[in-house]
Amino acid sequence: MIEVQDITKTYENGITALDHFSLLIPEEKRTVFFGPSGCGKTTLLRIIAGVEQPTSGIVNITKNEKVSFMFQDDQLLEDIDVMHNIAYGIDQRKISREGLKNKVFEVSKMIGIETILSQKARSLSGGQRQRVALARALIKEPDLLLIDEGLNSLDQKNKERLTHLLISLQEKKKFTLIYVTHDIHEAHLIAENFVEFKKEED
Ligand code: ADP
Repeated sequence: MIEVQDITKTYENGITALDHFSLLIPEEKRTVFFGPSGCGKTTLLRIIAGVEQPTSGIVNITKNEKVSFMFQDDQLLEDIDVMHNIAYGIDQRKISREGLKNKVFEVSKMIGIETILSQKARSLSGGQRQRVALARALIKEPDLLLIDEGLNSLDQKNKERLTHLLISLQEKKKFTLIYVTHDIHEAHLIAENFVEFKKEED
């Protein structure tokens, strides 16, 4: 279980994004955070990822998990090609050059970006960028994968294909997935554990 215990997050501008929020998230399942914009979903995901500090409260992750995340800002390296952007996701000390190339190719093929491996990130469309970011997250073979509105720049066909791919990979590899979306159709498709966020009334 991932235990979110009594988390409050107040930003420097005085906005309280989460107010004494607690939640249990099962491991090895697909959890969806659903709700309208501004209700603290991204804030909680960033706190679980460990890139944001709560004002108070803690997140308890029992297993020593390898975490990958895919945030709305994809953080691709603009002047670097797709191949190296994807390879950036893994610890390169533990793998040969040939092994790394094969791994990148394998994950790229699965996601359908094997033909753009030599393109620089800055030349890519929004949908291509999201697929590269997904490949970079998956190549790490995470135990915990956090995705924030990760597929929303894709056209409908690719979005459906990648959603199904993500579900089948999760079923096979049994990583813990936390997926943030405001799209109810996508939420129901992905969720085994559905968490609805509501906007606080003033
Ligand atoms: P959601 O993901 O549900 O859209 P967020 O966690 O992004 O919600 O935002 C919750 C609230 O916190 C919003 O009112 C938002 O404006 C505010 N907020 C989010 N990030 C920051 C930040 N870095 N600085 C200040 N306020 C923020």
